[in-house]
Amino acid sequence: MRSEELFKEASNYIPGGVDSPVRAYKPYPFFVKHGKGSKIFDVDGNDYIDYCLAYGPLVLGHANYSIINAVKNQLELGSAFGVPSQKEIELAKLVIKKVPCAEMVRFVNSGTEATMSAIRLARAATGKKKIIKFEGSYHGAHDYVLVKSGSGAAGLPDSPGVPEETTINTILAPFNDEDAVLNLVRAENDIAAVIVEPIMGNIGCITPKDGYLKFLREITEENNIILIFDEVITGFRIAEGGAQEYYNVMPDLVTLGKILGGGFPMGALAGKKELMEMIAPSGSVYQAGTFNGNPVSVTAGLSMLDQLDKKFYSEMDKKGTLLRGRIQDIIDDNGLNFKLTGLSSMFQIYFTENEINDYKDAKTADTDMFNGYFHNLLKEGVFIPPSQFECCFISLMHDEEELDKTAQIIDSYMKKL
Ligand SMILES: *Cc1c(COP(=O)(O)O)cnc(C)c1O
Repeated sequence: MRSEELFKEASNYIPGGVDSPVRAYKPYPFFVKHGKGSKIFDVDGNDYIDYCLAYGPLVLGHANYSIINAVKNQLELGSAFGVPSQKEIELAKLVIKKVPCAEMVRFVNSGTEATMSAIRLARAATGKKKIIKFEGSYHGAHDYVLVKSGSGAAGLPDSPGVPEETTINTILAPFNDEDAVLNLVRAENDIAAVIVEPIMGNIGCITPKDGYLKFLREITEENNIILIFDEVITGFRIAEGGAQEYYNVMPDLVTLGKILGGGFPMGALAGKKELMEMIAPSGSVYQAGTFNGNPVSVTAGLSMLDQLDKKFYSEMDKKGTLLRGRIQDIIDDNGLNFKLTGLSSMFQIYFTENEINDYKDAKTADTDMFNGYFHNLLKEGVFIPPSQFECCFISLMHDEEELDKTAQIIDSYMKKL
C-alpha cells in the first residue's frame, strides 16, 4: 500500500505524519492523489464519496471549474503583494451584503486567527477580560480557546504549553443551558465576550434549542458583553447569511473561514462598524498578517460566493434532508436507537441512545462503535471524518445516486450490529 509507505515516511519528518491531528487514524490515513466533484481519490487507486470535504470548505465539491479558472488568471498576475487590491473591496462588499451583522470586514488567513482577533477586539471594546465559551466548541488552535475544545482536541486534556494564566480568563458553560450562562453572568462582572458556534460542528453536530441563541443575544446585550458567533463552519452554509440569518439572531461580531476562501486558506472577522473601526490602523487594536487578503484566496472566495445563490441553498437542504431521512429510516428499521443530528448539509450519527444537546451528551457516544462504522464506510468507498466528534458535510456535487449508495452502505453496516 502506497499510503502506508507514505505515512511511514511522513512520520519521520512531520509529527505524527500529518499536519493537523484529526487527519491521523489507525492504522494509517490514505494519502490523497486528487479530488473531483464529490469524490476523493487516493494514491492506491481507490476512490471515495467524500463527506469530509476538507472539513468544511468544499461546498461545491473538489476542483470547482469556475474557481480553478479564476485562480489561474490571478496566478498569472501574481500571488502575493502586501499592498491593497480592488478584489478585497469586492469580497468585503459581498460578505457585507450576505452576512447580516457584517458592516465591515478584516480578512485573515484562518479561522483560528479570526477568533483570536475577535476576542482581542471584544476585550478592547469592553475593557473586560473574561470570555465564556461552550464545552466542546472549537474556535481554532490558539491558547485562549483551547479549553475543552471539540474536534481533534476533544477528550485530550488541555494542551501542555498553554499557561493557566491564559485560560484562567476562559470560562466554560454547557451549550443549550440558559441557567448556566445566566449564573455565570450574575457571578462574574468581568465578561467581555460570549463566543459560540451557533450550530456546534466540532463535537459532531449539535443544533441550538429553540430560542437559545436569542437568549444569548439578550443576556449579552443587557450586560455589555460582546456576542461573537463563530460561523467558520456555518457561514455561507446554513443560509446565505449563515446561522445568524437562519435563526434570525444578530451577533456583534462574526468569524468566518472555511467556505469563505473557496478552498484556499482564509478567514475573516466582521461585525458592527463601531467595533471594527477599533482595529488597526483605523483604531489601536492590533491585527496584522503578511498574507491577509491574499489575492489568490480572495479570488477563490469571490468565485465561491458568486456561485452560492438561492438555488444552491435549496439544493443543499434537499440533499441533506434526503440523506438524513434515509439514515433515520435505517436506524429505525434495524431497531437501533442511535442519534442522528444535523441541518442542511451537516449531519452526524452518534452511537448513543441519549438525546444530543451538549458536550456531555456527545461524550456518551461509543467511539469504538464509531470507529467500526468509519472503517466499514471507508472499505466500501465512503470517506467521512475519522472522528465521532467531527461533522459530516454534503456538497452540491453529491448526486442522488451517491447519497443512495451511501445509505445502503450504512444500512449494511447497521445490519451487522
Ligand atoms: C475550523 C474551525 C475553526 C478554525 O479554523 P482554522 O481555519 O482551522 O484555523 C474555528 N472555528 C470553527 C467553528 C471551526 O470549525
